[in-house]
Amino acid sequence: MSMTVERVSLFSRGAGVTMHGLLSARVQCVRSPWWGLPKVAGATPNANRVVRVHNADRLVHGLRLAAATPLPLLRQVADALVGEMCAGLEEEGGSDQLKMLPSYVENLPTGDEEGLFYAVDLGGTNFRVLRLHLGGKGQVLSQESKEIAIPRELMVGTGKDLFDFIANTLATFVDTEDILLDSKSNKHREAGFAFSFPVRQTSVKSGNVIQWTKGFKIDDAIGKDIVKQFQDAISRSGHDVEISALVNDTVGTLAGGRYNFQEETMIGCILGTGTNACYVERADAVKKWKEALPKSGEMVINLEWGNFRSPWLPRTFADDEVDKESVNPGDQWFEKMVSGMYLGEIVRHMLLRLAEEATLFGDTVPEKLREQQSLETKHVSKIHADISSELQTVATVLHEVLRIHDTTLEQRRIVHSLCDMVGQRGGRLAAAGLYGILKKIGRAGPNKNGFALSRQKKTTVVAMDGGLYEHHHPYRKYMEDALQELVGTNGPYEVFLRLQNDGSGIGAALLAASHSRHRQTE
Ligand code: ADP
Ligand code: MG
Repeated sequence: MSMTVERVSLFSRGAGVTMHGLLSARVQCVRSPWWGLPKVAGATPNANRVVRVHNADRLVHGLRLAAATPLPLLRQVADALVGEMCAGLEEEGGSDQLKMLPSYVENLPTGDEEGLFYAVDLGGTNFRVLRLHLGGKGQVLSQESKEIAIPRELMVGTGKDLFDFIANTLATFVDTEDILLDSKSNKHREAGFAFSFPVRQTSVKSGNVIQWTKGFKIDDAIGKDIVKQFQDAISRSGHDVEISALVNDTVGTLAGGRYNFQEETMIGCILGTGTNACYVERADAVKKWKEALPKSGEMVINLEWGNFRSPWLPRTFADDEVDKESVNPGDQWFEKMVSGMYLGEIVRHMLLRLAEEATLFGDTVPEKLREQQSLETKHVSKIHADISSELQTVATVLHEVLRIHDTTLEQRRIVHSLCDMVGQRGGRLAAAGLYGILKKIGRAGPNKNGFALSRQKKTTVVAMDGGLYEHHHPYRKYMEDALQELVGTNGPYEVFLRLQNDGSGIGAALLAASHSRHRQTE
């Protein structure tokens, strides 16, 4: 028997690179249906294994090329983002991708805030209630919080059900208030509401939901005032809690950053279930703003960058699959390549294809690979972080999560390289997004005036929050390294990413406080 070798390609049949190195395997190869890769029939187990791994390696190589994020590409992504940012500031709907939403937050916390404040932080996966006792002079005297997973059925139910659930959880939390805080059960309380979905605000404490993202779909809540819906639910719970600030979670994170890291904090960024960013813009640059300009001369703008898209985004077939299977096909492309809700799914689709087309895991495709959401981003990060020579953690995750048993080191190496590829791409694209914002506000970019190293650099802090950034360490390293590469180390600028734990919720409580304080002194 002799072996026929065909030309293979990742994305189109018939074109590609000729296969080498398999000629010692005495196997008969037949064309596989889609990829055009050699298949093994009646081969010895060892030859079988060699061909499988080789085929899988070739597919991974093709995917690596498609998903590559070299610096010039990242710069193009950043420039495309800046273009959309400018269009979105120009007029309402100026960009069909970035909403560039003014936040109505003029007064970022100063550190003087005092008193007991609550926050409710509705993310994509988790929902948190927080209690913050602020002592002024930048002091937080005490901080308590409770985190609850949002039941899946509430993500696609009615507004009333969702807000009743949140209000009742808040009410139960308020009831645990420590007597030492000198509270009475019927006391009036104020809370900030960090809400991680696109909202068109009409004031600092009102705004309408524009659309749901991250797997939420509550049609009857769209276009309605989100604070009113929440406030009504709180009334139904019988408690007196006033929502005095509605903030996007990125804005909360920025506010928390200001409190902790001071005025160099210009950007708030979330990398959790979804992704988004906000930044401090010159008010006169917001051309679409028709109301009086804020006294501070600045305005916090929420990009809603999850919906950014560009031909420069290095997409693979897996991104198309993830998009197709999502509740919002065609939307949120950037988010679907970068954030925690999707990285596991991207890797699962790649593994499925490797199992089907390169029989990576043997003649039968592991059932779990066909199951949506069977591989979560936390598993991907666990695999990615395994640097042991035998990739033992990879074996454990494959065994326990995907029910793929007795894997070989070569199989584990391939799985690891996919997780690395997807994590690297996500982290570096997130960095490109931040670089775009930095360029927009003149805190990164070419060193036009011949900056001398002896001069003081202009420092910018980005306040970061979100489970992906916090826990996925290789992702975070890729992101930080890419941002340093983009900004450069010899130029006039320097940028620091600072994790702001629970930043969105704490920031929302701080904004409730700064808003309350300003109201009293007005
Ligand atoms: P939310 O986005 O709901 O506000 P978080 O900021 O806590 O909540 O982010 C939760 C998301 O973070 C999860 O959906 C998951 O995608 C991601 N995540 C959590 N833990 C890890 C982990 N260990 N590694 C990678 N990603 C993680
Ligand atoms: Mg969050």
